[in-house]
Amino acid sequence: MIRTENKIPCLDLQRQHQQIKKEVFEAFEKVYEKTAFSGGPFVEEFEKSFAAFCGTKYAIGLNNGTSALHLALLALGIGAGDEVIIPANTFIATAWGVSYTGATPVFVDCTGDTWQIDPARIEEKITAKTKAIIGVHLYGQPFDIDAVKNICAKHNLFMLEDAAQAQGATYNKVPVGGFGEMACFSFYPGKNLGACGEAGGIVTNTEKYYTHLQSLRNHGMTVRYYHDEVGFNMRMGGLEGASLSVKLKYLAGWNDRRRQIAKRYQQELVNPKIVMQAQPAWANSIYHLFVVTTADRDDLVKYLNGCNIFPALHYPVPCHLQKAYANLGYKQGDCPNAEYLAAHCVSLPMFAELTDEEVSYVIECLNKY
Ligand SMILES: *Cc1c(COP(=O)(O)O)cnc(C)c1O
Repeated sequence: MIRTENKIPCLDLQRQHQQIKKEVFEAFEKVYEKTAFSGGPFVEEFEKSFAAFCGTKYAIGLNNGTSALHLALLALGIGAGDEVIIPANTFIATAWGVSYTGATPVFVDCTGDTWQIDPARIEEKITAKTKAIIGVHLYGQPFDIDAVKNICAKHNLFMLEDAAQAQGATYNKVPVGGFGEMACFSFYPGKNLGACGEAGGIVTNTEKYYTHLQSLRNHGMTVRYYHDEVGFNMRMGGLEGASLSVKLKYLAGWNDRRRQIAKRYQQELVNPKIVMQAQPAWANSIYHLFVVTTADRDDLVKYLNGCNIFPALHYPVPCHLQKAYANLGYKQGDCPNAEYLAAHCVSLPMFAELTDEEVSYVIECLNKY
């Protein structure tokens, strides 16, 4: 086996940020000169262009994606005594958003092949307390939106999109973000569109949510120092907003490059020991992550590390089995597909700046495994 000199990680943020350093620093200088550090014109500029990117009327910049989930649920009036249905296999922040409001997350299993929330398992979890379903576009691939929306319509529930991993993904050729009441985004540095700092946001087509969210993120005030309700300090910073405006211009190109790499993995990886995420016809993923499963995950990781390739695990423990939710009484076997995924997943190298040679090398190593 040829072994590269360079380590190939799951994600390398350095390469992208070196390329755009000059442009980002110029943007930072403008923020600095205006001392527009908290909210302000640079955040507003980003909000406008991000709403246009998602094809929605409004975007609200926030301090992170976890706050986006929290505030979107508050804007729907969800709180103590309510239940919100979410997939068991997601980053834990989807569940935090529900818990912060005082409501209870109810975990549903994913399908065995798309690894997205399984619409066939949702209705059995609906009770008189259920108020909303949050679908997650996990790994950048849209979930079965129409099926989930039909269930919401039938049972009079709200639908939210957790699009934290899916900036630019499309569902039947329509960008994610406008399918539910609101869609929540993370601009954590490692996401496809990541700020130089912590950031998040919500997009919506509904004016009443938009105005309420503006107040909620800013201490519950519409008139300065008059507080209509208990609010939060969850504004986006100016430096984050400015860096996001620079990066948004490149996002479509970066996403295309990820799709190209994914296509090579899909076409050239021929090892039957490696199982990939099924690609439903409606989904055009942006491959935030390229996750595969294999029978002996630890063995594959060890082998790849020996090739100087360093995959990651997203995520090793499903939400319903996390210690933080032990009080909810879930047990092993409640969500078998999510549990299988957690025990067998491996995230292959996936970022726009991977070279063709690196991709070839990863494929060669995996095919020899
Ligand atoms: C990253 C992420 C979040 C949380 O976003 P932060 O900006 O890290 O708070 C929520 N949901 C999913 C699916 C995520 O991947």
